[in-house]
Amino acid sequence: MLRVVFALVAGLAAGCAVPAMGQSAPNELVKQAVAAAGGEQALRALKTLRLQGNARFWEPDQSILAGGLSLLTGDSKFVATWDFASGATRTDWDRTFVGQGPQKYSEIVMPKLGFVADGKGTHAMSGIRHAAQLRELQRVTPLLLLKMLDAPGDVAFEGGLKLNAAVLPAVTFKEGGTTFHVLFNKITKLPAAVRTLDEDSVRGTAIFDVVYDNWKPMAGGAMLPHFVTYTVADNAICRITITEMTPNPQIDSEMFAASVETKAAFKPASTNNVPYQWVIRRLNFGRFLDSDDVFVPQGGSLKLTELAPNVQHVTGGSHNGLVVGMKDGVVVFDAPVSDGQARWTIDAAKAKYGKPVKTLVLTHHHSDHTAGVRTYIAERAAVLVPSPNRKYFALLALTQRPVPDELEKKKVSADIAEIKDQMDLKDDGIEIHIYRIANTHADGMLIAHIMPANIVWVTDLWSPGSETAKTPGTTALHEALKKHGIQGATIAGGHGATAPQAELDRIFAAN
Ligand SMILES: [Zn+2]
Repeated sequence: MLRVVFALVAGLAAGCAVPAMGQSAPNELVKQAVAAAGGEQALRALKTLRLQGNARFWEPDQSILAGGLSLLTGDSKFVATWDFASGATRTDWDRTFVGQGPQKYSEIVMPKLGFVADGKGTHAMSGIRHAAQLRELQRVTPLLLLKMLDAPGDVAFEGGLKLNAAVLPAVTFKEGGTTFHVLFNKITKLPAAVRTLDEDSVRGTAIFDVVYDNWKPMAGGAMLPHFVTYTVADNAICRITITEMTPNPQIDSEMFAASVETKAAFKPASTNNVPYQWVIRRLNFGRFLDSDDVFVPQGGSLKLTELAPNVQHVTGGSHNGLVVGMKDGVVVFDAPVSDGQARWTIDAAKAKYGKPVKTLVLTHHHSDHTAGVRTYIAERAAVLVPSPNRKYFALLALTQRPVPDELEKKKVSADIAEIKDQMDLKDDGIEIHIYRIANTHADGMLIAHIMPANIVWVTDLWSPGSETAKTPGTTALHEALKKHGIQGATIAGGHGATAPQAELDRIFAAN
């Protein structure tokens, strides 16, 4: 008997669901949280809400060093207005992104419509943006606890889940297509975090948390957290501080009104296939292509633009690649955005040259230019990366995805090698010189010089055709071309288009 009691206590301590507790425990946790958040009456009295605050954003996968400190991407002020009866929300953003000008716009999200309003008018959100924003609003709504209270059948005890160093009691709550894991503070009984498991291009299946702190009561008694932190696998990507909260403000329904054209243009996305982290983090970065085609504008397509008989520029999307047809196989530069873009590029390269993709060269580790790397590994391409990033990509190749991708299904072991200062790839007709160049964008950044076509491949340091300013990036490229004696080349970009080297020279001649 003693042993049975001990087993039961041990089970609880470890946070295991004990069958006898299965029925009452989850809803008991929810009830305690509702009471701690001001009580059912105070929460039900909340019909509308206005929150004002500041937000700061970081992106872990735009770091200088692979796996190093996250890049600060911007600061924003916002006013968020909720109408709980209709489920409509409007967030007015005043944003400053690092390296970009200020942006002011509003996002209006309703259960069946999402659109963006700025100084120029309104336009429908892509379905994936709407689905991601809707999920995030469902996660952070102050009424989440009431929804759980009202749907006890959708709440299940989960035992203990780790948050930082603590193991906290948690339940799952299924809403729409999403399973939220709600973790409760053991002392205050309030929600400590609301979690989903998301696909992340670097980490595979990753814990995505919204962590709450500094709860304070509003007039009427309902409590709200004033510090809200979004983390991916413990990396903070957004920190929000609420500076003002107004319960039940008067709302003008005009603030949610969309034009007939905007309504007609909106197409909801299937929630099965939303690249949540891509959408959330590109929006945080101020560089989201608002398209359900993800890597190309709505209705657009990728294409091969011939720069020389053996050199094709992959263009048409937000991020480019380069394909070089060599004698014994194809060399591709960069694997941007997604496995979808990688698959398109591999198939197009094979169709063009009738050869397999033998080598993938990654100019730097930033996830927007490497997220398709696993598809190349599955294709048995050797991967060349800047030194010392071999381990970073080897770990990435071993991660598991929420839905198995080509690599997970094929179980190909990754062939990854580093380029320290220079590497040359040659056959009878083509020479590719790959150089590590000094720069401030990413440690170990590589550029490539393809001869005899005299084409330079550069990513993120210069976007040929659109950038005409002296920047740390253009300076780094200019210096590197001088150092390696490259003259009269055509420069092809990982963004933008192509431009003669003379155009880069002009930026420096003019200053
Ligand atoms: Zn980059």
